[in-house]
Amino acid sequence: MRRALAAVVEMVIFALASGLLAQAAWAAASVDACATRTDMLGISRVIEVDTTGGPMFGRSPQGAFDVLDDHEVILTFDDGPLRPYTAKVLEALDAHCTKATFFMVGRMAVADPAMVKEVAKHGHTIGTHTWSHAKLQTVGLNEARGEIELGFSAVVKALGKPIAPFFRFPYLRMSDTAIGYLKSRNVASFYIDIDSRDFDTRDGATVERRVLAQLAKRGKGILLFHDIQPSTAQALKGILNKLKMRGYKVVHMVPKTNATTLANFDKLASRKIEQRKRATENQQLTKHSVVSPATGGTSANGKREVLPWGKKPDPTASRRKARAKRTSNNSWYSWFGAW
Ligand SMILES: [Zn+2]
Repeated sequence: MRRALAAVVEMVIFALASGLLAQAAWAAASVDACATRTDMLGISRVIEVDTTGGPMFGRSPQGAFDVLDDHEVILTFDDGPLRPYTAKVLEALDAHCTKATFFMVGRMAVADPAMVKEVAKHGHTIGTHTWSHAKLQTVGLNEARGEIELGFSAVVKALGKPIAPFFRFPYLRMSDTAIGYLKSRNVASFYIDIDSRDFDTRDGATVERRVLAQLAKRGKGILLFHDIQPSTAQALKGILNKLKMRGYKVVHMVPKTNATTLANFDKLASRKIEQRKRATENQQLTKHSVVSPATGGTSANGKREVLPWGKKPDPTASRRKARAKRTSNNSWYSWFGAW
């Protein structure tokens, strides 16, 4: 145990050292004039993560690595992309010439591949957050594997390029089974230190106050936002301004090697993209009212989606869900709930 831990610590130290090189490479490669501006956050350093063995980062019940120094932050955005808000998040990050990590939901990526490409074009790191924002704590290995693998394959197919082997558990709910699987696939998982809880308010000022208060107390950390939330889209520019004013520095996490995907899940992801495309075309043709790009379980033909590793839908649960949907004030992405 001690030996294994030592090996991973060395890996992180190695990653930190090589991060300096990556930072130099990034600086040299950057032709963006704003990169040299001192009134912007920019990036203080890049950490290149060797994901061999599936290391974990951030505050975590299972124990994870804290790679940050005082006043350093890592910016992370979960659950997207969702164009109206993801676009505003990109704009705010650009205004500070800084970079973040996006943990995308496979189903969301499939719904808007162009937005996935846009995030990548801006130089951000892209990881995943399962196919359907599943709570992996309550499922067996087969379903956990399916959610993880299709999540990666879907985002890779949507982007048309490899992504980072970086993962975040939906709802931050881990299980030994899923952690074991991620480790076997050399995928790093990221917990959080500072929680914006942007999903429970539409008020950007509340999000800003929460984040800055937690940071003042803790001094550093991995920040969690959601690029599907209007409060974050509204608040991010202000938050980044305050981070700069208060002397915080942004660390960018990049992978040493890309995520690998499995052929059968790649095929399934391609089919999902095709289905989504056809559904969108049909909607445009028939001029039906807007149907969600991620309705939480309907396929292109309008039937409830059953994933290959999933259980058959329980009709009672379906009725319950329909009732909840009718009474909910939330819009179609209410299935996200929190995290
Ligand atoms: Zn989430």
